[in-house]
Amino acid sequence: MADGITGVVHLNPEEGEKVRGAAAGLGTDNDLEGYTRPELMQARRSGDVALVHSWELVTAVDGPGTRMTMFMSGCPLRCQYCHNPDTMEMKVGTLERIEDVVKRIKRYKPIFNASGGGLTISGGEPLFQIAFARRVLKEVHDAGIHTTIDTSGYLGARLRDEDLDNIDLVLLDVKSGDEETYKKVTRRELQPTIDFGDRLNAIDKPVWIRFVVVPGLTDGPENVANVAKIVSRWKSNIERIEVLPFHNMGADKWHELGYPYTLEDTKPPKPEDVEEIREVFRKEGFVVY
Ligand code: SF4
Repeated sequence: MADGITGVVHLNPEEGEKVRGAAAGLGTDNDLEGYTRPELMQARRSGDVALVHSWELVTAVDGPGTRMTMFMSGCPLRCQYCHNPDTMEMKVGTLERIEDVVKRIKRYKPIFNASGGGLTISGGEPLFQIAFARRVLKEVHDAGIHTTIDTSGYLGARLRDEDLDNIDLVLLDVKSGDEETYKKVTRRELQPTIDFGDRLNAIDKPVWIRFVVVPGLTDGPENVANVAKIVSRWKSNIERIEVLPFHNMGADKWHELGYPYTLEDTKPPKPEDVEEIREVFRKEGFVVY
């Protein structure tokens, strides 16, 4: 998921063909039944199919109410603390057809309605396979289901204005407050996230901000002050800020994948230090968790 910290996967993919390894090229030896290789490439471009990493049904995270969270494969960021590094590359997941996915989500509508919940598209990065995400959001939103994306904002420019109409809430990760730290954390640039936040603010789109406290990496007072400065621009449409303590439960996955894990010796922050950072945002007038 975009914040890299929350969420536990509870549901396994129910349908579709399991694809590993070769899925990076999608269409090598693992064509979905009924598709030729070129058809599969075209189906991915049009959003008829996508590589879905996993699903979970969960309450009180990733948005209001009971939510079905669809974790998409693929992410352009390389966050040091990512606890789902297997979503970074397009290597693991299930190739799923859009009609199956939409049908599955709609089945839960009574639960969403009863709990004030809905669909959350997370990842990886939900906007990485944009054609599929766009179509799922539209169909699910048209069916009267609350929709959320859980994103770093790095690919926010991929969303057209009419796509934003199909999103009820954006969970936006601000992973750091200055370019240098942001790059150290994610290996990418901060500016696209700021641009996306500005755009959401201009249309008054409800936003929950997430910030992960990593000792020695993101917890410096200057960095926190810079994050506070950025989000203060968007005060009118931010409903809450979630300050999340780093944990290294993702370490095993990094080891399994053979990726170098840089936070081996980093301990979770002390609760009082996290609270102090929450206070910085509260002082700015935000509702903070
Ligand atoms: S690398 Fe991608 S999926 Fe992992 S925490 Fe960062 S934004 Fe989220």
